[in-house]
Amino acid sequence: MTTHGLFIDGTWGPSASGRTFAVENPATGETIAMVADGDGTDARRAIEVAGARQLDWSRSAPRERGEILRRTYEIIVDRTDELAALITAEMGKPLAEARGEVMYGAEFFRWFAEEAVRIGGDHTLSGDGRTRILVTKGPVGPCVLVTPWNFPLAMGARKIGPAVAAGCTMVFKPAEQTPLTSLALTRILTEAGLPAGVLNVVTTSGPGGVVGPWMRSGIARKISFTGSTDVGRLLLAQAAENVMRSSMELGGNAPFLVCEDAALDRAVEGAVTAKMRNMGEACTAANRFFVHQSVAGEFSAKLGERMSALKVADGTTRGAEVGPLIDRAGLEKVERLVDDAVRRGASVVVGGSRLSGHGYFYAPTVLADVPTDASLMSTEIFGPVAPIIPFDDEDEAVRLANDTDWGLVGYVFTTDLDRAFRLGEALDVGMVGVNTGLVSNPAAPFGGVKHSGLGREGGRAGIEEYLESKYLAMPRS
Ligand code: NAP
Repeated sequence: MTTHGLFIDGTWGPSASGRTFAVENPATGETIAMVADGDGTDARRAIEVAGARQLDWSRSAPRERGEILRRTYEIIVDRTDELAALITAEMGKPLAEARGEVMYGAEFFRWFAEEAVRIGGDHTLSGDGRTRILVTKGPVGPCVLVTPWNFPLAMGARKIGPAVAAGCTMVFKPAEQTPLTSLALTRILTEAGLPAGVLNVVTTSGPGGVVGPWMRSGIARKISFTGSTDVGRLLLAQAAENVMRSSMELGGNAPFLVCEDAALDRAVEGAVTAKMRNMGEACTAANRFFVHQSVAGEFSAKLGERMSALKVADGTTRGAEVGPLIDRAGLEKVERLVDDAVRRGASVVVGGSRLSGHGYFYAPTVLADVPTDASLMSTEIFGPVAPIIPFDDEDEAVRLANDTDWGLVGYVFTTDLDRAFRLGEALDVGMVGVNTGLVSNPAAPFGGVKHSGLGREGGRAGIEEYLESKYLAMPRS
């Protein structure tokens, strides 16, 4: 079995302790690789290298950085099948979805290859005309990058792409459950010409023992984190110590609104996309379906029909549409949430239980008439469960939709243009899908409000997160 090392200063090697941890295939429970288990000693070495390389890297030509990113994009596209197989093996999503993730991730490298040479600045005169105000933009400095397991390639791409474009060095800790794709991406970036020491990767089974020393180092100037709101909060508190720039892509609790005038079949297709992408294990997953009472019955029946027809299987099986959940804890959480909703009065339209056999499979589930006090209304389900809550009027729908601490994304289905704008503006979220169940796009600013985070990834805003402004005052003589 292959054992993978840490990547520090352009060299692969074992952890200081010599320890390793296992990576498991969630469809079979089998160990598929061993990975070096980094600790504080490795972390300190990595951040020192990132600090030492920052000045040189910040002086590199934007075109050089852009070309590295462009080559990275091309190599990823060439190796789509290989990378997709790796994602499916360590994370479980069906191969077709894994291929989609590879293309989505690759596009961030292409986007930021183009952004690297478009870093702007500003030149104005002060109001009294006596001073030239020159604003330049430079890299923020060494960055700490921490990613979750649900999109093993794309989450790293959304951070590494802009950091390279801006000229930042990095220390990177991928999720314990899915480090293999990040290590493959690291090899690709090296092959594409990324200089030694710009990206340093420490895998670990003890995240606090690696990320903590980075946050305390005084070397790192920025943290970019994607993951749960609880861990994000902890890292924000740590960032406060050294007043670090912080980008936080945290959890969601997306409302999905179906109005009485919605094109119902389109809404059902949108619901399947918004709910079932990644088996529901996505921060953008529709978590609460608010459906006008006049169409709730028909919508539940149609969605139930679509959901029960989805093919649930090991992600490598031909035609698989729904894979296993990431681990036993994820499966048990979904079970608990569904049982709680049913106990409180929800009815099961389809699904409602785990599937027998190997792996962590849960049946695609639709629950009707879910009471608003059910736990899943205020919990990120992270599984293939669609709870439907009927509403009477638009105001009630908005009130219910916004009745959450999170605010990442919302979905609105209506054929009334005014209503689409009205609801889009009223939802307290960072992104709105109007008659679509998919908002993720490298050219768009991805991110949330409230407990869903700070900052944006992708779009024109993406690179700004890695840039610092400097203003030069130059008196006119
Ligand atoms: P998580 O438990 O917060 O873990 C995310 C990352 O943080 C992992 O690398 C994890 O390491 C690390 N971590 C855990 N404890 C830490 C600590 N004390 N100090 C430093 N790092 C620590 O989240 P997850 O379960 O992997 O991912 C699911 C969550 O991510 C969901 O809430 C989802 O909504 C959110 N998410 C958000 C977005 C977005 O763009 N808004 C995108 C995708 C996912 P280990 O792997 O070793 O635990």
